[in-house]
Formats: sequence, structure tokens, C-alpha cells
Amino acid sequence: MPDKNTTPAIQFQGVGKRFGDNVVLDGLNFSVAQGDRVTLIGPSGSGKTTILRLLMTLEEANEGLIYIDGDPYTHEMRGGQRVAVPERRRSLLRRRVGMVFQQFNLFPNMTVLENIIEAPIHVLGKPRAEAVAKAEDLLEKVGLADKRDARTTQLSGGQQQRVAIARACAMEPEILLLDEVTSALDPELVADVLGVLRTIAETTDITMLIVTHEMQFAREVSNRVLMFDGGKIIEEADPETIFTTPAHERTQEFLRAVL
Ligand code: ADP
Repeated sequence: MPDKNTTPAIQFQGVGKRFGDNVVLDGLNFSVAQGDRVTLIGPSGSGKTTILRLLMTLEEANEGLIYIDGDPYTHEMRGGQRVAVPERRRSLLRRRVGMVFQQFNLFPNMTVLENIIEAPIHVLGKPRAEAVAKAEDLLEKVGLADKRDARTTQLSGGQQQRVAIARACAMEPEILLLDEVTSALDPELVADVLGVLRTIAETTDITMLIVTHEMQFAREVSNRVLMFDGGKIIEEADPETIFTTPAHERTQEFLRAVL
């Protein structure tokens, strides 16, 4: 058994991803330790979202291997060949990963509570009462206990995104992927969502992989920043270093444009 404390939560080993002739990720290597909060920054089109989508099995790499907690995730080497991991093992690992999207993706025909308990009951097989109790706890945590029975369409964008965060957490993922979770929100709603994520970061040991243009959020929540350009990591450092004294010229240019 891999040692949980030293085995990375996520490891990319020579991962390549192409869409037609467009090489989006090029022999990418990096790992994320258990409990790390890592922000991916870089220009639009540099492959950040693709990394999250690979981890959600929404896309498949063309080469290389991805490990979750030291276990090969979608592909493994067998007899010198790169082969697909059996579906059952893949889907068990997949359950350790949750994602919050820019566009919330809530079920519009369900109440807030129903959105949160649906997957714990139908995917994890939790008893309804247990799923409801956990959902109520989470709604308290994201400041929406009073919206339990509201339709999601009656909520503001910021409230919907907080429901989406509660829904992802209800699956008790070890790894939470956050893809531009504040980009679709009006500026006055951004702070509430970031506050909720900051609380989760401070009160749990969940591993987070964050794609964001909110550099302040990256600075407050993450302990590591990876700068991407052209499908590769060109610089990595702690947030303080990368935001105050970026080493790479492309990082300096990028930060000048977004800060
Ligand atoms: P980022 O998140 O850094 O903006 P993405 O990972 O979204 O970058 O995209 C990287 C590149 O991959 C872009 O050139 C984008 O057009 C391309 N791409 C992403 N998804 C697809 C897809 N499903 N089909 C074709 N090209 C895609």
C-alpha cells in the first residue's frame, strides 16, 4: 500500500493531450501533495482547464500516466504497453475527485436540498436520512440553510455557486477541482463564494486544484502556484514569491496584464 502521507494526491507523468493538430499539453510532469492548494495560472488556452477535465475523466490523455493517491487512474503500463485501467477501478478513483464549474451546472428542476443529496444517494448509496443530514450541515457551512427547499432558479448566481460547492463537498472528495468558479458572477457576489472556499480550505484537509483569474484568491488560499504557457509549466513557486518577484518574463507579462 502506498504511504498516504508521502504519496502525492495527484501525479502527472509525461501527460500529452492533443485536439487534432493542437498540442494542448506536452509531456507534462507535476505532482500535488495531499492537502496542497495549488493554483494554475497562465494565459487563456494554455491548457489549465484541460488538466481539470482530465482529472474528471471528461477528456482522455493521448500519452503519459496520471496517478491518484499513487494508483494509475485512466491508464497504466502493463507488459511495456500503455493500456486503459479497468472501468471499475477507474470509477472508484473518480469518486475521490469533485469539481465545481464556472457555470454551476445545477439541476434546475430540483430544490437546493435535492441537488445536494442526489449523487450521495444514487452514486454512493447513502441512506436518505444520512444524506439529508450531511446536506443540511453543508448548507449551514455555505450560509444557505434557509434556502434548503428553494428552487435553484430562484437563487442569485453567487448562491447557486455556493450550492454547487456544497454539492461537490457532499460527495466527500479528497480532491476538489475549481474551474473559474467566480467568473460568471457579478463582482458583489464574488466575495461570498471566495469566503466559503477559504473556510473549506482552512477547516478541511481536502486537496485543491484551482484555476482562477482572481489573483487575490490564489494568494489567500493556495500554497503553490504553477504558471502554464504553451502546455508546459514554465514557473512554480509559493504565491508570495510568484506574485511579488516572478522569475520568468512570461509570468511577469501575464501578471502585469491580470493584476
Ligand atoms: P485554459 O483553461 O488555459 O484557457 P484550455 O485547457 O481550456 O485552456 O484549452 C487549451 C486549448 O485546447 C485551447 O486551444 C482550446 O481551444 C483547446 N480545446 C479545449 N477543449 C477542446 C475540445 N473539446 N476540442 C477542441 N479543442 C479544445
